Amino acid sequence: MAIQLSDRVQRVKPSPTLAISALAQKLAAEGQDIINLGVGQPDFPTPAHIKEAGIAAITNNNTGYTAVDGIPELKDAIIKKFKRDNQLDYEPDQILVSCGGKQSFSNLCQALLNDGDEVIIPAPYWVSYPDMVLLAGGTPVIVEAGQSNNFKLTAEMLENAITDKTRLFVINSPSNPTGVSYSKQELAALGKVLLKHPDIIVATDDMYELILFGNLDQKEGEQKVFTNILNETPELVDRCVVLNGVSKAYAMTGWRIGYAGGPVELIKGMKKIQGQSTSNPTSISQYAAVEALNGDQTCLRPMLKAFKERHDYVVKALNAIEGVDCLPSDGTFYSFPNVEGLIARVDGVTNDTELAEHLLDKTGVALVPGSAFGLVGHIRLSFATSMENLEQSIERIASL
Ligand code: GLU
Repeated sequence: MAIQLSDRVQRVKPSPTLAISALAQKLAAEGQDIINLGVGQPDFPTPAHIKEAGIAAITNNNTGYTAVDGIPELKDAIIKKFKRDNQLDYEPDQILVSCGGKQSFSNLCQALLNDGDEVIIPAPYWVSYPDMVLLAGGTPVIVEAGQSNNFKLTAEMLENAITDKTRLFVINSPSNPTGVSYSKQELAALGKVLLKHPDIIVATDDMYELILFGNLDQKEGEQKVFTNILNETPELVDRCVVLNGVSKAYAMTGWRIGYAGGPVELIKGMKKIQGQSTSNPTSISQYAAVEALNGDQTCLRPMLKAFKERHDYVVKALNAIEGVDCLPSDGTFYSFPNVEGLIARVDGVTNDTELAEHLLDKTGVALVPGSAFGLVGHIRLSFATSMENLEQSIERIASL
């Protein structure tokens, strides 16, 4: 019997980033020579002191259910982190800990959106935003900010996209997939537009906050270079949700800990959704996340330094390939080059998806086509892998 799936599940597609990574792993397991530049996760192990906190949680039998919204110690560590790094003040009932940044955003959509509510998402965007909006009954309104815009939305573009149905505006800086971040002035200009529209909620996804190359030039104890829209437009505090997590900066993708800080009522709604779906995030991971946020932060620097070195190499090497045009990133571990020239000169390839397939098939390099992020003619390359792998991949791409 063919099982008829719900309309809801048929509205969305599988996550392309996860699909490409799974395919690369499968081909590698079959013995093929694959270099995976597809998945966005640090290639470093979780720092030892954080792993030890996880082990201690098991030894101490911290293995039962916790409060849905997180253990008090972790909520406290998040409040301290918001204060220390972002100059933002929250009370415990304004914090929700979830199973990764992904669940935080999903909870937000489920708690906020009614059928037909519009959500403004600048493209290129992280692959899962539009689908999570669709799952919640909302309508993604994609506003393209291409390479000529430095991949950033201007105040005018935002203003033009707003209708009386707009419910949510999503901003992700530094951005997955482009690595660019908004300046204080750019954020202030967006904030000014939002102040004119008091019904719009703002979601700022700060997952890559700590992977900003400018941090390498800061002295110990100096304020970080990161800024978010709430720092520039504090008046938005009653309608802004700050999303973050430990996955990327602390090399903890598999531990699945994300968190949100925001207005009490909204956080309460998101908590209700989580309480009726997954309950608390893993107890062991929560204890490890306490150590990540409260513990020694010097573990971040070697990883950031490696990402910066690889970034500098990759951007230069990509730009040396005929038909490839790559902007430098401000942070993250992604490059998002324009490859239209490459597409034009490779036989049998007419778009970025075919280019990604061709690259995997002919050279064993796995990366994600730009169309998965809402911008055709590009590819996303994750440089969270060794220099040796990167040098080999560039050689293979250049050989097309
Ligand atoms: N966020 C990462 C990426 O973009 C992990 C995969 C995912 O959840 O999308 O590759």
